[in-house]
This record gives sequence, C-alpha cells and structure tokens, in this order.
Amino acid sequence: MPKFIFVTGGVLSGIGKGHTTASIAKLLQFRGYEIDLVKIDPYLNVDPGTLNPIEHGEPFITDQIFEFSPAPSFEYRSAEVDQDFGTYERFIGRAIHPRNNITSGQVYLCVILQERLGTFLGKTVQIIPHITNEIKRRLRDVGAAVKGLDVVMVEIGGTVGDIEAAPFLEAIRQFRLEEQSCDTLLVHVTLVPLLPTVGELKTKPTQHSVKQLQALGLQPDIIIARSQVSLTEEARRKIALHSNVAPEAVISNPDLDEIYELPLKFYEQGLDAIILQRLELMARPPGGMAAWKEVVEQFMNPTTQLRIAMPGKYVAMTDTYVSINEALRSAGAHHKADVTIDMVDAEMLGSTNDTKEKLLTYDGMLLTPGFGTRGTEGMIRSAWIAVEEDFPFLGICFGAQLLFVALCRYALGMKKANSTELDPKTPYPVVDLLPEQREVEEKGGTMRLAGHSVHIKASTKLRSIYKKSQVRERFRHRYHLMWDAAKKAEDIGLVVSATDKTGHIINAIELSNKFWIVGVQYHPEYTSRPDQPHPLYYSFIEAMLKRKLGKGQRQ
Ligand code: GLN
Repeated sequence: MPKFIFVTGGVLSGIGKGHTTASIAKLLQFRGYEIDLVKIDPYLNVDPGTLNPIEHGEPFITDQIFEFSPAPSFEYRSAEVDQDFGTYERFIGRAIHPRNNITSGQVYLCVILQERLGTFLGKTVQIIPHITNEIKRRLRDVGAAVKGLDVVMVEIGGTVGDIEAAPFLEAIRQFRLEEQSCDTLLVHVTLVPLLPTVGELKTKPTQHSVKQLQALGLQPDIIIARSQVSLTEEARRKIALHSNVAPEAVISNPDLDEIYELPLKFYEQGLDAIILQRLELMARPPGGMAAWKEVVEQFMNPTTQLRIAMPGKYVAMTDTYVSINEALRSAGAHHKADVTIDMVDAEMLGSTNDTKEKLLTYDGMLLTPGFGTRGTEGMIRSAWIAVEEDFPFLGICFGAQLLFVALCRYALGMKKANSTELDPKTPYPVVDLLPEQREVEEKGGTMRLAGHSVHIKASTKLRSIYKKSQVRERFRHRYHLMWDAAKKAEDIGLVVSATDKTGHIINAIELSNKFWIVGVQYHPEYTSRPDQPHPLYYSFIEAMLKRKLGKGQRQ
C-alpha cells in the first residue's frame, strides 16, 4: 500500500489548493517517488461533465475511461473530471486515471444501488459506516490500481466546515486511524490575509479553520499559508502555536508571478524534507529540478508579446478554457513569447468592417470548444475573416466545426449551412451527429470521450507538425464534419489531414492555400505540459510570430 497525503482547505475556497497539491506531488517526484493524485469533489453530480464551465471551470478530459457498474441496472462511464486534474497532469507530466476523481454523487449512487441489490440486507444504511466505507474503499482502490506507487495525494474540494464534505473528512479520520501514523499525512491549506490598514498578516482565520478540523478529530501535520506576501516569522510562530504544529511545518505560499515556480518555493522552505521525514521515506537527492527551473525561467523572461483573439459567448476570463490558456502560454514560453488572450464577445461581432478591423489587430485567432447556439453566428463570421485575411487560426472541436460551416457558407455558396446542433432544419447539415449518438438521450458521460487514435495523412501541414502518422488525442463531442461537404471543399483548398482509424470521422482539416489555418476535432490542450508544449500549439504560436515578422502570408 502506498502512503497517503490528504490536503484540506480552510478559510476560503479558490486559494490554489490544486496548485499546492500538484506542487507537493512534483517535489516528491523530484525525489524519485511515484505519485498519483486523487481529487474529491463533494457535490452530488456524478461527474463535472454536466456542470456549467463558467461556474465550475472546464471539465478536464482524461485519456482513459472509468467504467463501473455498481448494479446491473446502472453502468457508469466517465472521462470528464475536475479541472484540477489539468493542473496535476501539467505538473507531474503524465495521464491520471478518471477513477481518481471521487464525487459524492458516485459514492451515494453506489451505496444506494447496493442497498437495492440487498448487499446490506437487514441493516440500516447510514453515512457512517456505509458511505465512509465506500469512500475508503475508493481511496484504497486507487492505491492498489497502479503498481509501484509510493504516495497518493488526496485533495478534498471545498472548505473545512462545508456540510457536504463532512462524510469525506470523517472517512479520512477513520482511514488515518486504521493506518500506521507514518503512512498518512494531513496538509491544511489556509488563507492568511494581509490587512492593508495596519500592514499586518492576520492569522486568526487560520487558527479558526484548524480548530474546526480538530473538532472533527483531524490534526494537521503541515500548514500551508496562502498570502499576498511571504509569511513573517511572527505569523509563522503564531500559527504553529495555535495549531499544534511545528514552526518549520508552517509553510509560506505567497502570490507568485509564475505558478510553475511554486514547487521551487516549497523546496526552498524544506517542505519535501519534512514530508519525507514524517512519512519515513528515504530523502533521496532531488533530480530534474534544474530542468524545471529552466522552464520557469522561460515563462518569466519573454522577449516578445502575442495577442490572441478568442471569439465566443464567454467574455470574462474564467477557468472555462484553462487548459487552452495553459497550452498557449506554454507554447508561448518556449518561443519566448508572452501570450495575452482576449475573449471577444461573439454576440457583439457584427458583419461590418469594424469587426474585421478589431480582429485583425490581434496576432492570431483561436475558435474555442463549445455547445449551443449563443454567439455562434459571430464565431462563424470570425472564422471566415481569418480565412479571407489568411490570418493564423486554430479551431478546436466546436471551433473546427464552425470553421467548416464558414467555408461551406461563404466559399461553397451553401447558404445557411450549419451544424444540426445549432440549426436542426438547416438545408446543408455539414456538421451532424455521430451515427452512434443518434439514439443517445441521456446527457451524463455519453459523448464520444477520452483518448482515441488519430491517423494523419502524409504531405499535410499536420504531418509536418507531428512528424508522425499516428498519434493519440483526447475527444469530447457528439457531432462531426460531413465527408460529402469536405469532398466538395477540396476545390477551395480544404484538406482532410486526419481521421479516426476507420476513416469515417474527420479528425482534422487545414487549408492548403493559406499560411496556417487548422481545425481539429480533438483537444490537444489536454496533453500539453509546461515543459513539453503540444506540437500543434507550438506550431500555432510559431505561425503567429512569423506573421508578425512579415513572413507569414501565403498569398
Ligand atoms: N458541441 C460540439 C459537439 O458536441 C463540440 C463539442 C466541443 O467543442 N467539445 O460535437
């Protein structure tokens, strides 16, 4: 059995618990340990696939599918997990299995279906022990699933004191009691506000949140204090004293210009040494840290700027497209370019020259994934502007579908061509449901999801980017481009550059007579890493830089 590190949050949510968890994992990885990460989400949704991304951030798409059937009447599939998995994968650089996202929805569903099956015959089914047992079983399953695992990090979503998280905290209390004291660790992440009037770091909220944990029978071993500035010695001492934690186990987590620097900040304070000592793991010399440092330097020292327009229905910069933002940022950093992303309100984009002028002030355009009709007319027009102006353009999933609609409408004269998702009565249904999706009515976990092979045609831009004929990419869609329209579009320079292995599903398109216009049905952002940007994003950034230097027009 691996060791378990639990990470709870206090005071406020949204203080970077995911990045803290991922940074600890990275530090242990530097020490040569095999790490896995679990995220517990106390909401009742079975997975975040059906959540509004504005409210909850993007769902992250995993490579694998988690399938289980708690009862013959119910089969559950998921590859849509919490956005924190994006952070985890970007930090530790490998794919994480979707079974590692445990939600209250999954836990309760399992227990209730088992009750109907008669598994607990004669017993009253209760939160303790039935729900807590199911939680512990799921955690131990993760520990047993991967061979050679040393440590499992378990991040508990929300804040200590939330009603819905209570069964999870109770399960952790029991779990810790059942294991040796050197086999589990509790890290509590809190906020230490800086009071501007007195210029003082206030530790009281942290003291209160630790008291709340202690009332649940949980004593933190390490406290990580989020604050605007580095923790003063006085604040550190106060927190230690009131929380029953050693002063050296109170770690400062100040605001950083570059988030990938966080593992290094923790290392400076000896966080990994404390963890290894408490878990009785050998303190192997750290490796790979210099390379990570170099990556951080790249992020922090850009020599040029790029501005990218993202026309769509979302106008505020939220976590809706966090993986895309990170993929662009990483590819930018490797080209020494700082990337600014502007969400352009597609609903406000008219057909006037103003629109064109506005969009052309950018260095490139990315048309985002999405669902539903709002803003799509503006997105289709934007795609056409990119084509007309030979402007670097990357369409992701929905964005590729809308590029295709624009080409059919404006270059092939198919007036009112559309995706049947947006206009079921369109005279030219050039994007339509995947055949296997026709019978699907339920919304949860039923899209074409997760990793699939992508077969790339020779002599295409895509092939020159990947330098491979077959790759694996992650998908999340119900609709796809229609072959008959794609064939017609060959006359205007459209090339189907990749398909699935059967050749039926178009996976990528490009325009052979333009400098850099590419649309992909899959999501390359989910496999992009800060130290290894995805080749497609890398090439997109390169195209923008070339254009900026006046070398990027084909016509
Ligand atoms: N709504 C489109 C589909 O289901 C695109 C989905 C996406 O962009 N991820 O095919």
